[in-house]
Amino acid sequence: MTTTLVTGAYIIAGLCFILALAGLSKHETAKRGNLFGMIGMGLALVFIILATVLKTTTDGVESSGGPSWAIIAILAAMAVGAAFGVWKALKVEMTGMPELIALFHSFVGLTAVLVGWGAYFENIDHATGLHNGELFVGVFIGAVTFTGSIIAYLKLSGKMKSKPLVIPYHNVINLAALVVIVGLAVWFVLAPALWLLVIMTIISLLLGLHLVASIGGGDMPVVVSMLNSYSGWAAAAAGFTLNNDLLIITGALVGSSGAYLSLIMCRAMNRSFFSVIAGGFGSDGAVSGEEKDYGEYRETTAPEVATMLKNAGSVVITPGYGMATSQAQGVVADLTAKLRAQGVEVRFGIHPVAGRLPGHMNVLLAEARVPYDIVLEMDEINEDFAETDVVLVIGANDTVNPAAMEDPHSPIAGMPVLEVWNANTVVVFKRSMNTGYAGVQNPLFFKDNTVMLFGDAKQRVEDIISAL
Ligand code: NDP
Repeated sequence: MTTTLVTGAYIIAGLCFILALAGLSKHETAKRGNLFGMIGMGLALVFIILATVLKTTTDGVESSGGPSWAIIAILAAMAVGAAFGVWKALKVEMTGMPELIALFHSFVGLTAVLVGWGAYFENIDHATGLHNGELFVGVFIGAVTFTGSIIAYLKLSGKMKSKPLVIPYHNVINLAALVVIVGLAVWFVLAPALWLLVIMTIISLLLGLHLVASIGGGDMPVVVSMLNSYSGWAAAAAGFTLNNDLLIITGALVGSSGAYLSLIMCRAMNRSFFSVIAGGFGSDGAVSGEEKDYGEYRETTAPEVATMLKNAGSVVITPGYGMATSQAQGVVADLTAKLRAQGVEVRFGIHPVAGRLPGHMNVLLAEARVPYDIVLEMDEINEDFAETDVVLVIGANDTVNPAAMEDPHSPIAGMPVLEVWNANTVVVFKRSMNTGYAGVQNPLFFKDNTVMLFGDAKQRVEDIISAL
């Protein structure tokens, strides 16, 4: 009876996760999607504890008279984990979200490794070949996810250079590591010796490090969603090892949706999916554009921009990572409302990898209550720049860099960008002439129709509002 209740709760939790994913696919339903996710996770947690208590009791541990140390240990670990999670979530700035997510993925990877190792020692005498295979795969994916996510965390938080690491024969090294792991897997299924597991874990940890270190700055968005996908598969593999259906379902949902998101990001960035998951396969690490002399740039002031905007019929705002760091979304929404009230047509052009997180700009604009119908995707707005009077590039750089189209040796070559330079006038908000995430200079800043408005984006937008 109680087992039926637990199974029923698992099914409802699984449904909640599916509804969560469906909700998260649109702005309008994203909040509801999150709510379903929370309900599903809450149900899953409560019933997994219930199932564990029941199992411990029926196994007779309770009847021995002492407390169930397993349950106490689980509850204590959950309390520590929850306290850490709440503390981190309250403390994190919106700009720190991408690296926090990468860090959380690394925990999922580490957990899969520990679950696999724990299952190995627990079942060593009676494990089947299939069980050994599941365990091996779980530890492999978990270890790659663990170290790969740590490198992603270091790159996203700026603690490590975003430039790709290119060591000689890196493709051959990756391929050789995979071949060795497949060989070890076959051996392990037939004869599960501890040393096989140890060697595979070490190779997989190194492979994760190398795969993500070889990815260049501009391609990091795909890596983030790919690691998200790996963490899902690692959880699903742990679910097989632990015989937990809900973990298998949840892991598979995260794994497949993450893989699909990676595919979408690859298409948006004109990258080959295979090349990115293989760790920059085919990339020669060439970087150009940094040393070129693009000539002079022109500066402007907030009152001048206010005059330009007053006289404009159509304005497009293309936000980027700088809007997130300066937390300018609120004042950008105010500026939008003010201009629209004066009869100016204002729209937003969102690049799929703007910011440091898939959907980063959409989240910020939704938070600032910018109407959804004026927020357009890159493909929807790119053709309209030629008829636009003024483009405000607020803290964006790589996503508006014409070098992606003009310089075949640029690290961002081939990536579709917002073609803002086709507008009548482009105003770029940034603090200096520093490069963006990919580390390349932007020829847009030196074009005849571009003017630079230096300073913190939030401060400059406030100055424009005062001058309007
Ligand atoms: P970029 O990172 O290319 O550029 C951001 C710009 O904002 C910089 O030029 C910086 O210039 C400026 N800036 C920073 N702080 C401020 C501030 N307070 N006020 C005004 N300007 C500021 O941003 P994009 O959004 O155009 O591009 C995103 C990049 O990140 C792409 O290369 C993408 O591949 C990568 N990426 C994206 C991820 C995703 O999932 N979206 C994940 C990982 C990487 P200055 O310092 O001079 O002010």
